[in-house]
Amino acid sequence: MKTDNPIIENYGILASMSWNSNKWANEPTIQDLKASKYGYVKDKSYMHESLNFGHEIYPAEANGYFIGYTPMLNRPPDIEKSKHVEIIFLLSSDYANGNRKSIVGFYGFPYFGDWFERTADHSIYKKYDSGNIQALPEDIIYFEKPIVIDNDIVKKEAFLPTDKLISQQGFNYLNSDNVHNLVIKALQLNPTNKKLKLFVQKFPLLVQTSNEVFELQDFYQVVGDSTADTVDGITELEKLMNKQTPNVKTRISNYIERGAIANKVKKLAGYKCLICEAMGLPPFSFKKPNGNPYIETHHVEPISTLKKGVLSINNLITVCANHHSQLHYGNSEIIENTSTSFKFKIDGRILEIKTIRLI
Ligand SMILES: [Zn+2]
Ligand SMILES: [Zn+2]
Repeated sequence: MKTDNPIIENYGILASMSWNSNKWANEPTIQDLKASKYGYVKDKSYMHESLNFGHEIYPAEANGYFIGYTPMLNRPPDIEKSKHVEIIFLLSSDYANGNRKSIVGFYGFPYFGDWFERTADHSIYKKYDSGNIQALPEDIIYFEKPIVIDNDIVKKEAFLPTDKLISQQGFNYLNSDNVHNLVIKALQLNPTNKKLKLFVQKFPLLVQTSNEVFELQDFYQVVGDSTADTVDGITELEKLMNKQTPNVKTRISNYIERGAIANKVKKLAGYKCLICEAMGLPPFSFKKPNGNPYIETHHVEPISTLKKGVLSINNLITVCANHHSQLHYGNSEIIENTSTSFKFKIDGRILEIKTIRLI
């Protein structure tokens, strides 16, 4: 997935930290400490990053910021090079799962390049008293479902700049495309994460594409497992659809026009284009490999009108591809819609088509 925006280099950072079996919201386990690749963790049996995603449990500092940590920022990155960084993704090796590399969350609009003392009042801060990265709690997002990566995946999904590998040291710069792709991936993996949704809606680079992703999610939520192949199923969809945006409604309409109920309607109509037929033209299109003529279905009343029964079979007609396009994009209007027939005006000509009924 690519954006049309010009690419901004060093827009994000992918930084490693030790694994924490308590989701970085509490102290690590003994095994976590033993499994860490970082010498200081092993030596001191202590992880600064222990509370990185405890921002919803422990208090923020007086300035509203929550402090976290990654060993990658102990030596601050070049100020000039990192001045456009708007997000820091945190990567860790899941030692209980074959050391697979998992991006488990991020700090959005972060401050870093310094050492920060935790001064907020909480007993756990006596032990975990400082860090090197801070962000507002609302901009710190933990992924229940992490983005698992390896060098093939980052290449295929453009999670890192072209020709870059996941750094052995644990630090990679990301360009704006990479950031975009990672956040969209996180959204796909965590569709019910409201905080992530809210963050994305204010993240300049992502507003537009994220809206498309949200629409898709809404669509799947409405359609669910429905195959739209029974009258009841369609009535149910119609109810769920009411609150959706126009784009989502269009998707649902297309879904039904291509679904199982549409196949019944096609059969009932004998695979004829009802408009061609009404015009006295040959009503059959080319034959498909299964022997049936190719035909499409169309909702006469646009789904977006939300009129009652708009998704029902009575609102479907069969049309050839050409007439289907004309109904959507050409010069045509419905001038009458009774329970037994539709009257269309197409290119100035009035045509009457009988309603299809399931027997
Ligand atoms: Zn036709
Ligand atoms: Zn249509």
